[in-house]
Amino acid sequence: MLNQLTIAQLQTMLAGRKASSREVMRACLEQVQRIDGHLGAFLSYDAADALAQADAADEALAAGATYTERPLLGIPVAIKDVIAVKGQPLNCASKILGNFVSPYDATVIEKLRAAGAVVFGRLNMDEFAMGSSTENSAFQLTRNPWDPTRIPGGSSGGSAAAVSADECIAALGSDTGGSIRQPASFCGCAGIKPSYGRVSRYGLVAYASSLDQIGCLAKTVEDAGIVLEVLSGPDNRDSTSAPQPVPRFRQGLAGDIKGTRLGLAKEYMLGGLDPEVKGAVAAAVENLQKLGAEVIEVSLPHTDYAVATYYIIATAEASANLARFDGIRYGQRVEGKDPIELYGKTRGAGFGAEVKRRIILGTYVLSSGYYEAYYLRAQKVRTLIRQDFLNAFERVDAILTPTCPTPAFKIGEKSSDPLQMYLSDIFTLSCNLAGICGISIPCGFTSGPRPLPIGLQLLGSPFGEASLLRVAHAYEQSTGWHKKTPLFSD
Ligand code: GLN
Repeated sequence: MLNQLTIAQLQTMLAGRKASSREVMRACLEQVQRIDGHLGAFLSYDAADALAQADAADEALAAGATYTERPLLGIPVAIKDVIAVKGQPLNCASKILGNFVSPYDATVIEKLRAAGAVVFGRLNMDEFAMGSSTENSAFQLTRNPWDPTRIPGGSSGGSAAAVSADECIAALGSDTGGSIRQPASFCGCAGIKPSYGRVSRYGLVAYASSLDQIGCLAKTVEDAGIVLEVLSGPDNRDSTSAPQPVPRFRQGLAGDIKGTRLGLAKEYMLGGLDPEVKGAVAAAVENLQKLGAEVIEVSLPHTDYAVATYYIIATAEASANLARFDGIRYGQRVEGKDPIELYGKTRGAGFGAEVKRRIILGTYVLSSGYYEAYYLRAQKVRTLIRQDFLNAFERVDAILTPTCPTPAFKIGEKSSDPLQMYLSDIFTLSCNLAGICGISIPCGFTSGPRPLPIGLQLLGSPFGEASLLRVAHAYEQSTGWHKKTPLFSD
């Protein structure tokens, strides 16, 4: 079925007129209509608009457009509900933005459109991207396509579930502390968080501005490379986007990885690591050695402080960024007798419990008297964490870790214990603190009646996406994990 194919496969089929974009889009829509009532990945979608975009792509193909110029021509790409698409709801899965429609396209959406993509649907997420399970969405639960009693990960849980269940061909997500890589790992797809500055964030609703990046979730590493190449590059509307040249990621995938040096961080060998995750990652390391990579031990000595550092910096920045949702400028309003009461009532009714918790924590760590003890100290530790990685990258081309200590957990298992939820981010947070790039790809499955995907994380130096993708692709091609399909897709 067309919705099960990769971007690379569809490029060949569409260019050879073996299928039309309308047929691809229809196949995705049929899958959404068939399963999404139970899966819950999409908050909304506009079928007529998607089909009209597909028709326009078919016309462009008929007029001679090529995939060299427009690599995503006619390919349905779904969007996390935190990225602005003109004329579509932009709710960040929050009640406070419940009636908000975006007046403009984010830069990444402009770039997708220029590349010919069919921009389709709004994907569920944790409210304002705060969470690791998508249970913090104010609107609905998203299930894991491999086991509907489990969460899909978060915060880009809708993106990972939709890609994995073949409801779209690829999806955009955002990653502040793991929100692309962790759900990719739980749902068995490829998910890349680019280096800080690689992709413009104009049109991304900010959570923690020094950590946020937009990236993509896809069925293969090659597809992730194709989409990332489209998204990347400097943008004068985002002063934090970097003036780095954009490599030809897809072309760079060719070739072997003989002599590539890979690092294993001794601080990541935690006691609490699930034995099946540990086993799958160890097998992946052996596999990479067979492919010719050299694996050495590296040290990231400040790893122990990553969770605490992240949850100080992220909440501090979130408390500032979320101040704009005051009932005056955007979204919902609850009236009050004066502006102060209006703000209080609007924010009290509009934000969910986790978002309030983060705003309170963030305001506390920034308050006078505590600023030096928490925020300032966290910034210093962050520099040490970044330095640990830069030191390690003097010796290795990439670092290998599990993406998460466990496979996908049960719905409700951690939602009443925020600390347990925060601790599950242990392997993904440092990448954002250090501003480096990271990818998660499937490296095995758990045993049992409903096998769950296990993710391998590869971390690369700042703007080192090309070599990261090359190693990930070589590994993926030597395994069949990415070809397995979940229950929901049968
Ligand atoms: N789970 C982390 C958090 O709750 C990361 C979320 C993200 O990357 N957006 O902050």
